[in-house]
Formats: sequence, C-alpha cells, structure tokens
Amino acid sequence: MMEKDDMLNIDGAMGEGGGQILRSALALSLCLGQPFHISNIRATRRRPGLMPQHLVAVKAAAVIGEAEVQGATQGSRELEFIPHGTKPGDYHFDIGTAGSTTLVLQTILPALLTAAAPSRISLQGGTHNPLAPPFDFFERAFVPLINRMGPRLQAHLKRPGFYPVGGGVVEVSIEPAPTLQTLTLLQRGPILSQHAWAMVSRLPAHIAQRELKVLGDQLGLPSKTLEVRQVEAKGPGNAVTLMIESEHVTEVFVGIGERGVTAETVAEGVVTAVRRYLAAEVPVGEYLADQLLLPLALAGSGSFVTLRPSRHTTTNIKVVELFTGIRLACDELGHDRWRISC
Ligand code: AMP
Repeated sequence: MMEKDDMLNIDGAMGEGGGQILRSALALSLCLGQPFHISNIRATRRRPGLMPQHLVAVKAAAVIGEAEVQGATQGSRELEFIPHGTKPGDYHFDIGTAGSTTLVLQTILPALLTAAAPSRISLQGGTHNPLAPPFDFFERAFVPLINRMGPRLQAHLKRPGFYPVGGGVVEVSIEPAPTLQTLTLLQRGPILSQHAWAMVSRLPAHIAQRELKVLGDQLGLPSKTLEVRQVEAKGPGNAVTLMIESEHVTEVFVGIGERGVTAETVAEGVVTAVRRYLAAEVPVGEYLADQLLLPLALAGSGSFVTLRPSRHTTTNIKVVELFTGIRLACDELGHDRWRISC
C-alpha cells in the first residue's frame, strides 16, 4: 500500500491549468518513479477533466510504467498514478478520435529516451491539430534537439490525420541513451534556408496555393521554396508549415486550416509568429521552449534563449520544480529575449 506521504500532490488548476500539467506530471513520474495525485484536472478548460485524448496519455503512461492508476475515466478531475519502472518495447496507441498523437508522445517519450532498451511506438489519431505540436514541428524542430542530447529518435508520418476524422498514423523509434546530455542553445546563427509547404487532403489545391502566396509575399520567400502537397488523409484537412533552418537550430511554424477560417488568415497567423521569432533573434520559439524544459531538467543542466515565456512555459517550470526540486531560472535579456537555464 502506498503511503500518502510518498505521493506528490499536484494542483491541476495552477498556472495555465490545462492538459500539459497532467502530461508533464505523468512524464516526470515515469522518469523518476515518483507516484503522484493530481486534482482539478484541466480546471480552466471549457470542458474540464480527462477527455479521450488525455485518457490515452494516462493509459499509455500506465502501460509503459506498469503503473497502478485510479480515476482514469472520462471527465474525471482527479487521478492517482503509481509507476513501477519503465518498460521499453513495441507499443501501439489508438486515440480513437482526432486527438493529438504528439501530445501522447510528449507524455511517454522522456522515460523511453533513457530506458534500458529501444522502443517502437505507433500511434493513430490526429497529426496536425490546433493547440498541439503538429507532426512537422515534432519531426523537424523537436526531434533533432533531443538527438543532440544523446538518444537516437526517429519519427515517420505514415498518414496525416486532421480534425475531426483523425486516422493519422505516426511511427517513432527510440534508441535510448544512458543519460541525457546537456543542451545549450544561446544563438540562432544566420538563416541557412527556408522552406514552406502547404498540405491539403480532400480539399481544393487553391487553399494551399493561397496560403503559400501569403507566406511568399509577406516574408519575401522565393517561389522555389514554396510547395503544395496533396496528401491522402481519412478526411479533409489543411496545414501550412514554414521551416527555418539556421546555423544552430531549426524552427518550424505551422498554421492549421479550420472550417470558416480563410486560407489567408491561417497563413497570416504563421507570418505573425515567424516575424516575432525573427525580430527577437532567438534560437528557440514559443512552443519549443515549453517542450524543452523536461529534457533540460532530466539532463540536469543546460540553457536556451527564447521569447518571453508563455504561460505553458511558466507552468511547466513549476511542475518540473515540484517533481525534481530543480529550479529553472528565467532571465530577461532584452525585448522579447529571455534565457531559461537549469
Ligand atoms: P495544452 O494546451 O496544455 O494541452 O498543451 C499544448 C502543448 O502543445 C504545449 O506543449 C505547446 O507547446 C504545444 N503546441 C501548441 N501549439 C503548437 C504549435 N503551433 N507548434 C508546436 N507546438 C504547439
């Protein structure tokens, strides 16, 4: 029987108050073997509690950590999670809806990166969702930085999946490292190349062409760097991506098409994010920042320069501190330039 004193208590309503608190808690719990209890799950969201995609994350973490779990039901606002070690191997997780595959990966990857043996994970669900890391961002921005820390991670998109039909398939293979090495990313360096692609599935190609025209016109990208990709998903969908490869880092900016939102508006969202990133002269953008915090803390050292920390970042810093006792410092260096260090 677990003593209540051994259980870390997490308030899911703190800070940003969303699903990331739960995912980070699950990830850290697996890595550290630390049981936890979380209350007020997704308290600040319109439909609070565990939604199907969070349940898949909990179940995935439970399988990989051979964990005892209480409260893993839809709508539940409380969960108790007691892991018993990390079991690497071959796993398949079906989210069943268009729920984000990359958010499930966020939950289970950290533990598998330093597990005793390799793993292969296949996931079915959404691959290009709003409010989640799009697959292209995961593959081109996140994965290479993790690989710099020692593990050998590879991601493959077998089929894209868009809201609401989903059905996308992602495969990830993980060659773990004994420990994560430090990551230092203080400068972006000169831009080496920029490449934009707009994907459409079961939608007219002019949507992709109009998005690329906005990117081309507003960011001064030559037409040879712009590519229309007609893809076969199980349902209609659209995403526009700009990848910026700089000397020290690759960043990826994605806009997800939505019904009732014009292609121009979707692309303008990307332009705004890209302009902010380029103006600040930082290596790490808003989303990479919150996603690098766990790897950094697990490595035990490292630092990066990024934009003004988002609420996801400040909240994730608190979750890391609660689990590890490690303080991640945020220092303002200038206008929209911050250094986060461990
Ligand atoms: P939550 O809102 O708590 O479910 O967490 C959302 C997660 O998705 C955070 O880790 C964000 O960094 C990530 N995310 C949201 N939008 C993007 C995007 N456009 N590109 C990359 N990551 C994203």
